[in-house]
Amino acid sequence: MALWDKIGSRGDVEDRRGMGGGTMALSGVGGLVVFLLFAFLGGGTGDSGSILEQALNQTVTQSSQSTEQPAEFQGADKYEMFTSKVLGSNNDTWSGIFAVQGRDYTAPKLVLFRQATQSGCGYASTAVGPHYCPADQTIYLDETFFDELQKRFGGSSGDVAQAYVIAHEAGHHVQNLLGTMDEADAGASQTGEGSASVALELQADCYAGIWMHSLSAEGILQSGEIEQALSAAAAVGDDHIQKTETGATNPETWTHGSSAERTKWFKVGYSTGKLTSCDTFAG
Ligand SMILES: [Zn+2]
Repeated sequence: MALWDKIGSRGDVEDRRGMGGGTMALSGVGGLVVFLLFAFLGGGTGDSGSILEQALNQTVTQSSQSTEQPAEFQGADKYEMFTSKVLGSNNDTWSGIFAVQGRDYTAPKLVLFRQATQSGCGYASTAVGPHYCPADQTIYLDETFFDELQKRFGGSSGDVAQAYVIAHEAGHHVQNLLGTMDEADAGASQTGEGSASVALELQADCYAGIWMHSLSAEGILQSGEIEQALSAAAAVGDDHIQKTETGATNPETWTHGSSAERTKWFKVGYSTGKLTSCDTFAG
């Protein structure tokens, strides 16, 4: 375990676990929803469609969100505190970097949920994986995803690996604030090696590395723990996901980059701690 108790800051976490909710209203806007979400997982999987598409095609029977949370999730449990500290620490790192550039940083929100919930992008489900919705500047996270991820694709599901995933989503928030997301949306190609989508995702990995760089400087990461983040980054490379699911790889459908690229860019951010080092769009 990394020494998370050293973090004094707290992020804005809303706990919706156990509250149900999440109706899909996709008619006509399904494509739009896909492009507005920045999910952690890639997975262009050929015939079966992407994990994101599969998730969007699921039938959801829950129709409304209850206001009462089951007793097991009431109060701030260990996991809620963990996510709050990780997000708070990310906010510290990024507000510092923004301040140097004379920019204002506004902190994102993080929603913990189970199975499905409503988001500013319409619908959030566990199957989509952790993701960031630019419309409401919120990260959506169901921690049961990590067990599933480890079962299906291997890689670490330890605390540092999970912190890397939250930091990756916080990286998308930074891209949203800096306008990088809008610029990338205007780009011509949206999938495949070298596309704007892949460049955005690799940059979010690089930004997660920048945050982990600051953790090391503060003595929060213990010896060897960075390997957990690298293991998670490698497990969610598009080539690894495709190979595991279909036995083949198809670079034309990549959305997040290969295992090698994801670990490479995480390391770039981690070793330099510098925003300017994360120029994944340069090619
Ligand atoms: Zn992402």
